[in-house]
Amino acid sequence: MLPVVSAILLGSKRWSRHVAGVIHDWQRHATPSCTGAQTCADGFSQQFRHFGDWRSMFRSSSGSGSAAQQSVGLFGRPELKQPQDWKRLADETEARCDELLAEVLECTAYDGVRVVALMDAMSDQLCRTYDAAECCRNVHVDAAWRQAAGRACVQLGAYISRVNHHEGLYGRLSEALEVYEVSVEALARREAPLLQPNRLAGWCPESVLVAQRLKQDMEQAGIHLPPDQRERMAELAAANGHFGAEFNAALTDPRQVGRVSLGFGRSAPLDPSSVASIMASEPSESVRRQVYLAAGLSPDCNQRLLEDMIAVRRDMARMQGYASYASLRTCGGSLAGSPSAVVTFLGRLAEEVRPLAEQELQALGQLKAAHMRSGASSPSSSSSKHPFGGKYDMYGKYGIAPWDVEYYAALARRQRVTSPPTALLRYTAVPSVLSGIRTLLANLFGMDLSISPAAPGEGWAPGVLRCDASLPQLGPLGTIYLDLGDRPGKYPSAVTFPITCGRQLPADRNPRQQQPQQQQQGPPRQLPVMALLASASGRCPATGQQALSYRELRVLLHELGHCCHSLLSRTKYQHLWGTRCAQDLVEVPSHLFEHFASDPRVMAVLARDRSGAVSKSDQGEPLPEGLLRELLSGRATTAALELQQQLVLSLADQWYHGEHPPGLLDPPPPSASAASGSLSLSDLESYSSISRVASLLAGVEAGAEAAGRTTSEVWGQAVETASSVPYVPGTSPELRVGHLAIYGGTYYGYVYARCLAAQLWHTTGLAEAPMDRGAGNLLRDRLLGPGGSLEPLHLIAGLAAATGGGTGSSGNSNGAGSSSSNGNGNGSNGKQQQRAPVRDREQQRQLQAAEQQRGLSSALGEGRLLQALAGGYAPRPDRYLEGLEAGTAV
Ligand SMILES: [Zn+2]
Repeated sequence: MLPVVSAILLGSKRWSRHVAGVIHDWQRHATPSCTGAQTCADGFSQQFRHFGDWRSMFRSSSGSGSAAQQSVGLFGRPELKQPQDWKRLADETEARCDELLAEVLECTAYDGVRVVALMDAMSDQLCRTYDAAECCRNVHVDAAWRQAAGRACVQLGAYISRVNHHEGLYGRLSEALEVYEVSVEALARREAPLLQPNRLAGWCPESVLVAQRLKQDMEQAGIHLPPDQRERMAELAAANGHFGAEFNAALTDPRQVGRVSLGFGRSAPLDPSSVASIMASEPSESVRRQVYLAAGLSPDCNQRLLEDMIAVRRDMARMQGYASYASLRTCGGSLAGSPSAVVTFLGRLAEEVRPLAEQELQALGQLKAAHMRSGASSPSSSSSKHPFGGKYDMYGKYGIAPWDVEYYAALARRQRVTSPPTALLRYTAVPSVLSGIRTLLANLFGMDLSISPAAPGEGWAPGVLRCDASLPQLGPLGTIYLDLGDRPGKYPSAVTFPITCGRQLPADRNPRQQQPQQQQQGPPRQLPVMALLASASGRCPATGQQALSYRELRVLLHELGHCCHSLLSRTKYQHLWGTRCAQDLVEVPSHLFEHFASDPRVMAVLARDRSGAVSKSDQGEPLPEGLLRELLSGRATTAALELQQQLVLSLADQWYHGEHPPGLLDPPPPSASAASGSLSLSDLESYSSISRVASLLAGVEAGAEAAGRTTSEVWGQAVETASSVPYVPGTSPELRVGHLAIYGGTYYGYVYARCLAAQLWHTTGLAEAPMDRGAGNLLRDRLLGPGGSLEPLHLIAGLAAATGGGTGSSGNSNGAGSSSSNGNGNGSNGKQQQRAPVRDREQQRQLQAAEQQRGLSSALGEGRLLQALAGGYAPRPDRYLEGLEAGTAV
């Protein structure tokens, strides 16, 4: 996942467009087999002659407590040698941004793209400090560092909020963009443009896009509204952040989630992980049922918080002229294009997966019946009655109730995966897996990954590794700090934190800020830096080294996909770099990388028993034949049922944030909403009652899917639409779904990514040759390189056009930010276009439009990447559905 920072912490940090990741639910064990595969690895970093050296590597330097004078600086930044440096750095960042702001304000509407470049530089300054502080605040083992970084986040968050509301800044940007647009229209009419040709030529497509995005981001903070509405928008944004944070905090607060009494003096806590554990392992159905029902009403404070959050988001969207919050999140800058395309896609996928889910449920029902006949499990004493009265069948035609699913799924998996965990751990010792990753990236992209311990003061915990990536034709690409350490209090899930974004450096910018550019080819660039945290909780039985479970290996590959997106991006602006792309595309590379864990040829490289290796040339033994199949079979046990859960969540998320949200019968029109006075944080308590009164007074709108219904009724409707396991009326599972607070209207991106990644695995040729350089180049040029510098539909169309030829090498690439399709690694299309005369650029635009059209027709149609749906687009699910049965789907 990628961290979701700003929404909850600060309310608005729009300039650093952290894209929501997804909390992944790899619950199952599974494993690999292997065949002889190309293993071109030359071991590891050359300084380690054999793998025994790795033990010392993991014990080596940390950032904590070392003398500041010996430190190279946190994240390799000399300006960060001690905690108090954060304050100075935050002050310096503000001062530098003030200078840049002054430069922007001096610009005229005719200064063209200079306004955009200055604003991107400002955004970069802020993100370089804020992102690094955000990472430090979450990962550092030293409380003094965490606290100092936290204070820097608060300080810069306030500054960012001021910038987002700076009228002068917005005015210069809007004017510059308007003069450009008027000039283009004039040219189309064959009239003289307002801008001089050299200024007009500066507006490469990427510059236009970044200007539009920056403007859009500022407008989401309400900058374009009259002053009273702007104030209200700020209050609503603060309220949204407040409600979201409270909602998620309640899920881990023992006082809020409470406990359930199980009789005989026993009770169970109702926090999500305890409940999940009971559902998967408690043999007594009666206990599972009690816990399920109690959890379904907890934490009850979240009912009001959810309603308030939905109401506030609805108002925010309406004030900005959108029909719904889901529209605000999907219209413009997403592949889906419209909420109706999303809902149609989810509904169709639900229908298509239902037969497979029924089969899985039937198998679980048979298992339960056998189990009960054998006396291993007893039915709930009151299983025939609905817990809250009424006549509802909670068991369906297969005899499986909602509180049975996880228990029998776990049992079924244990029947399929009979090898002990240590069978895999012999092959997944961390040094061995890292060596395999190095080989994979070398084969796929020609990338060299040099891995070494972080220098003194550079890391944030013992054992942090520094991985420097480079390509022969491009030089250095960037740095990943890798933290696989196992320690109390470590960040709770796998995550990739951006620390520095890449970008093309303006030649005249402050040289002190620039990184060493040695050996770089093409225009000078700021190299990306990121921190990858994941876990390796097992131990290799042969060597005692840290080792990865199959799930952990998939997670590591997932995060590696995010890192490669950043390393291989080649955009001009940091605002569009790598993972700063559309929300429904950001998880595609990471899910694509997960496919490597299902492929025996790649697993033979990644998972090898090198414990007996004594020389660099000795690659050890690959994973035994059959183990991967066993693990994949385990994953396949309830894959369709799990997809159904994702569909339920995605649908409910869309409906809660749709045009007619639950509990709000007739939303007031934007003007009435704006005129209703300001809302201070102290009024938040009463907000929900105001909403409810308004909803009672209003009438039900015909055709609305959720209006006037409770959030639980809407959840029930989503279950009925997408799940084979019944909803238990009277329960409110939505109160425990933290994703609703985090993703608001965009959770569908997870299912989108699964489907699109499965299609790409095949169309790019990876399914046939998963470590083929041609496929790697295609991914680099058409998916990873462009980052967010192409409209999502154009990006996918370009990818489809390039795969249409059936080869791994792409054709001409005219898109802004498209990278080194000419193979020389220059990747400076923006630069080329900047120099091109206007007439040629018009020609280029026509060519580009033709290519996009061609790409779109390649993307659409039977077996292709996309389907056109209800005013938008969605991935085709064919390949994904195929993979569900085989356990290879991600
Ligand atoms: Zn992710």
